[in-house]
Amino acid sequence: LDVPEHPVIPIIHGDGIGKDVGPAAQKVLTAAAEAAGHDVEWMEVYAGESARQKYDENLPEETVEAIREHRVAIKGPLTTPVGAGFRSLNVALRQTLDLYANVRPTYYLDGVPSPMKAPEEMDMVTFRENTEDVYAGIEWEAGTDEAEQVRDFVEDEMDFDGVMHEGDIGLGLKPISEKGSKRLVREAIDYAIENDRDKVTLVHKGNIMKFTEGQFGDWGMEVADEEYPDDEVFAAPDSLWEEQDEVDIPEDAVMVEERLADAMLQWMQLRTDEFDVLAMPNLNGDYLSDAAGAQIGGLGIAPGANFGAGRCLAEPVHGSAPKRAGQDKANPTALILSGRLMFEYLGWEDAGKLVRDAVEDTIDSGTVTYDLARQREDAEEVSTTEYAEAVAE
Ligand code: NAD
Repeated sequence: LDVPEHPVIPIIHGDGIGKDVGPAAQKVLTAAAEAAGHDVEWMEVYAGESARQKYDENLPEETVEAIREHRVAIKGPLTTPVGAGFRSLNVALRQTLDLYANVRPTYYLDGVPSPMKAPEEMDMVTFRENTEDVYAGIEWEAGTDEAEQVRDFVEDEMDFDGVMHEGDIGLGLKPISEKGSKRLVREAIDYAIENDRDKVTLVHKGNIMKFTEGQFGDWGMEVADEEYPDDEVFAAPDSLWEEQDEVDIPEDAVMVEERLADAMLQWMQLRTDEFDVLAMPNLNGDYLSDAAGAQIGGLGIAPGANFGAGRCLAEPVHGSAPKRAGQDKANPTALILSGRLMFEYLGWEDAGKLVRDAVEDTIDSGTVTYDLARQREDAEEVSTTEYAEAVAE
């Protein structure tokens, strides 16, 4: 990214535990940037509850414009009130700014308790399509005229008579496009090439949803096959049904393969070291990255960032955890490590490395928040603020 010398970084602290972890992460990220000799100027912007209080709306134009203009931003979690009549604010932000790739690195940090036998084998990066699939929000509520019209159309005009049960029914669409699939897979492959990764696994449920998930796999393999030379990217033939051990893969080439999403959840645990970069449609990516995060310490640790249209919006995997809100207890690590991704996007690898090392040293020394403390007898439980101070120090 062509970064101005003194970038302005919009920050949304977020709802619920966002009020705890937002300022804590900001403190650590400021310390890391300054220690690495970079000037960081934060611009607090608002969304969700804080925006309703200040502007009487959920997602003010000022916030969207700030991220559009400054191109690099960070946000804490936003609550989606159940039944409030609007789609998720997170989904709205990603769609409005065309942040089409949600990227979540999952790696082990020393000292983090894990249920896995060999957690240090986990070093994966998931690329989740961010703008379509069932999360596009094209749904019709049960009992409405619209839902009945869609039902009639599907049954009468599209020849799906007898497939849907009688009575009230909720309906939704699952759009998966060539454009959406290919640009996501391209990002994953480019990432693998640039970061010396061996493999990109396309994860879908194409055996059942042939024309959506299956098509995602076909388009993804097309990108691998047609857009890169074979000695750089190798599209593994028939990888869904055949072991690839026998296949002759050019040395140093990134192999692109397919796996079914349900089986993938078990392979991820049984053969962790075999996976590298994963690319998948929206819903699979949501489930799978949470499950991967749980294997290396849970949601309090798991970072992420959204990319697209020359922008980066870093955000943790976790939500606003209302049960823990305002108690100065939540773990700010996920947001802090999301900031590391943002720094790397700015080209500040030095600040990013400081962030990772400081977090790892702090956790390894036994200074942890409640979520890790209850899994580690030798550790001391500290508050969000105390933990952030220790990391920043
Ligand atoms: P959640 O991630 O907020 O919390 C689930 C549980 O994980 C919590 O109860 C807590 O035990 C633990 N946890 C999460 N983050 C933690 C942290 N930083 N430190 C310690 N423990 C942590 O998921 P949820 O309860 O399903 O969702 C709550 C709200 O968050 C909903 O409104 C949901 O829509 C929203 N949400 C927002 C985002 C986002 O902003 N990107 C993502 C997911 C959920």
